[in-house]
Amino acid sequence: MQPDRLSAVRPFEICSIRPPTENNSLTFRLTRNCYWNKCAFCPIYKTGAKFKKRSMEEVREDVTNARILDDLLAENGISGSMDTRSIQQRAVSLIQRIRQARQEAGVTDKARCMPLENSPDPRMRWFSSWFIDYPDISDCVEHLVSWRISGSRSCFLGDADALILRPDHIGAVMAHIHDNFPEIARFTVYGRTRTAAGIRSEKDLAAFADAGIDRVHFGVESGSADVLKMVNKGATPDDHINGLLKAARAGLSCSFYIMPGLGGVAMSQQHAVETARVINEAKADYVRIRTLEIFDGTPIDVMRKKGTFVEADDDTVVLEIKRLIQEIRVETELLSDSATNLLQVNGRLPEDRERMLAVIDEYLSMEPRQRIEYSLRSRLAAFAGQYGGLSDEVLSAIAPVLKDGSLDLGQVPDGDLKQMTAFVKSRLMP
Ligand code: SF4
Repeated sequence: MQPDRLSAVRPFEICSIRPPTENNSLTFRLTRNCYWNKCAFCPIYKTGAKFKKRSMEEVREDVTNARILDDLLAENGISGSMDTRSIQQRAVSLIQRIRQARQEAGVTDKARCMPLENSPDPRMRWFSSWFIDYPDISDCVEHLVSWRISGSRSCFLGDADALILRPDHIGAVMAHIHDNFPEIARFTVYGRTRTAAGIRSEKDLAAFADAGIDRVHFGVESGSADVLKMVNKGATPDDHINGLLKAARAGLSCSFYIMPGLGGVAMSQQHAVETARVINEAKADYVRIRTLEIFDGTPIDVMRKKGTFVEADDDTVVLEIKRLIQEIRVETELLSDSATNLLQVNGRLPEDRERMLAVIDEYLSMEPRQRIEYSLRSRLAAFAGQYGGLSDEVLSAIAPVLKDGSLDLGQVPDGDLKQMTAFVKSRLMP
């Protein structure tokens, strides 16, 4: 391969923050960060990152750079049909050759930047390893390879609220992406309900759908006006309902993210009932559950330390989810696809309601000690699923209950088990 083709390769910006269903999507960054950035529970862009709408030229250049790199992957025989080991070997060799050619040609990029590297929270420091503002060539190769392996069909356009962009701008970007990657069959974005309700007309939203946006992932979090105000969500229940109905009428599929625990102890049941009301009135297609996790240094962490927010415990959150399921009256899919959730409660409502409630009742019927043990085991399993095993830090935290590599919770006091569980939880990513 000619060295000048290799030295012409440039990295493109990747959306590190994306819904779990888009983990293997090809991503392009139409904006950087979040223009709202005030939600009390959200740690993501709180490290000084500034919002920016990227120009058409910047995004088009990224798409072209992705195309050039993807062609090189194909020419090097890297395709989704190969075994993982061969793909990795070829990808590493290609990265080395690109780096060498670029070095010889004197090409340099912006320094690889990980904005969460110095966060006070260890989870965020770990997160920084893949939350990269300015990726390098190897990040981009890995990104394209995972998209190829997973079938090359999906594309996510970020960052936090693509609906803030003009529909003609998004349409032009998507047309350019389609010209370069005609195999993409599905585009998704994050959106704020406030934007859908108050800034965009139904005609605008229909233009997003016509341009090819299939689904918008909305962070609803709560249907309670009091909870939304407390966490500074910048949206009301009416914004949620109007924005979601408008988006659906415009032909966009809507996925809701809700956050059990966000009302704390004081507003737990109110949070459940009013969130169910919003789901019912907005007729959500998909509802995804993410239990509140409090990150060090976030505004809600400050509220907790001051005593103005009392965090709900596992049992309170489980009762809250039970109430939510009981109150949902529309046909919807409820998914519990996050390591933050204690119980796996998944299904289609209304037909799976009894089965889902049975999972909850089984937990609630346990003796208090059994629930404490269940919580620790469940968090450890979630940790192992997320990180591929237990870290030294976690192994050290649970050392008193480890015997010959297995858990032996025996006579260990409840308080100690709860502390271990809290530690493991504090290391889980939402
Ligand atoms: S709108 Fe989303 S990204 Fe922005 S601060 Fe709120 S939760 Fe975070």
